[in-house]
Amino acid sequence: MPDRFLFRGIRVVDPAADHDAVVDVMVEDELVAQVGPGLASGTASVIDGAGLVMAPGLVDLHAHLREPGFEHKETVETGSRAAAAGGYTAVCAMPNTDPVADNVAVVAEVIALGDKAGLCDVHPAGAITRGLGGEALTDVAEMAEAGVRLFTDDHRSVQSSRVMRLALEYAKTFDVVISQHAQDDALTEGWQMHEGRHSALLGLTGYPAEGEEIVVARDIALVRLTGGRLHVTHVSAGQSVELIRRAMQARIPMTADVTPHHLTFTDADLATYDTNLKMNPPVRSEEHRDALRSALAEGLIDAVATDHAPHAPEEKEQEFDQAPPGTTGLETALAAVLTELVEPGSIDLSTAIRRMSVTPAHILRLEEHGGPLSPGRPANLVVFDPAAEWTVGERPFQSMARNSAFTGRRLRGRVLYTMLRGTFTVWDGEPTR
Ligand SMILES: [Zn+2]
Repeated sequence: MPDRFLFRGIRVVDPAADHDAVVDVMVEDELVAQVGPGLASGTASVIDGAGLVMAPGLVDLHAHLREPGFEHKETVETGSRAAAAGGYTAVCAMPNTDPVADNVAVVAEVIALGDKAGLCDVHPAGAITRGLGGEALTDVAEMAEAGVRLFTDDHRSVQSSRVMRLALEYAKTFDVVISQHAQDDALTEGWQMHEGRHSALLGLTGYPAEGEEIVVARDIALVRLTGGRLHVTHVSAGQSVELIRRAMQARIPMTADVTPHHLTFTDADLATYDTNLKMNPPVRSEEHRDALRSALAEGLIDAVATDHAPHAPEEKEQEFDQAPPGTTGLETALAAVLTELVEPGSIDLSTAIRRMSVTPAHILRLEEHGGPLSPGRPANLVVFDPAAEWTVGERPFQSMARNSAFTGRRLRGRVLYTMLRGTFTVWDGEPTR
């Protein structure tokens, strides 16, 4: 392929540059070369951008790529391919692998696997505690030195206030962020779904919203005490949003993300006992979901993260109480946000791109990602057709896993091209490698 591409007459939504206009974009080698009307094509290959949107490549703060150790669910390569297909150019890989990414050797292994796949930038998160055991802190300094920007025990929640305090103190010293999966273990023991009218009707053990609220409240208090940077991942409860609102008013440094599935589904959808809708934290009532939508619009929740959680078919095909929680998300996130939030007018397209690209890139300090798409900047971008409708599951997934909560759902918005430093990772809707 030639190394010059001209996107002709394409709507560029570039919140980092406060830019939203139909222009021509020339990409040359690894960089955005020119942006403006009526560019001469010269020797470049021309791509007709009529009706299409270009945005900075999406950045995911929370994806489980499962390697090393769980290659029957996903590998860094297949997860990267799913990410590219979904319009992502960078993902933060969760550390609950086997071995756990609680040391530099595992972190380096995941980085090398990501580089080898070459489909998106893979930035491993480090564990907060050794073996995700919740007690002994990992060597945050050493992993930060190796480039790790985010630490989390995700799928576990740090229960000890003493350990969480220490983690936030380290975060402050080494200028990294602590991402908390907020869950009070004792209060949520044996949980199957959100605690409410529907859990009573279905006879499933409930996980009250307070199980999240208690930990978010404690963590905000610990941020006040330490000054360390906190990120609350996959916020699911309205009460958590209110705590974040008060923290922001008090200028306490923290950020938060929400998943497309928590923005879409409610506990009423569990009436079919569909294990693809079993998540941790669980999808909650309509009231909670609507609070999350408003919080995303208001900016109380900063980012959309997928919590891409692939599982093997035989794992999800068990009885509801036996099936592991989680849904895949990388290939449906953009379309879900466009369909569930942008189309009904909850947020505009520029805000959607800000929450899915600009802000997560900023939280992870990925200067090459999140735009602006201006001349001289790395060509990390996505091109999608906002009007294209598709049904989830009608085309094969790029992920190894099939456990999408959105299976069978009609969504609008399809990724056609993804570019990583000027190289197409997706061309005409298909991964290039
Ligand atoms: Zn997770």
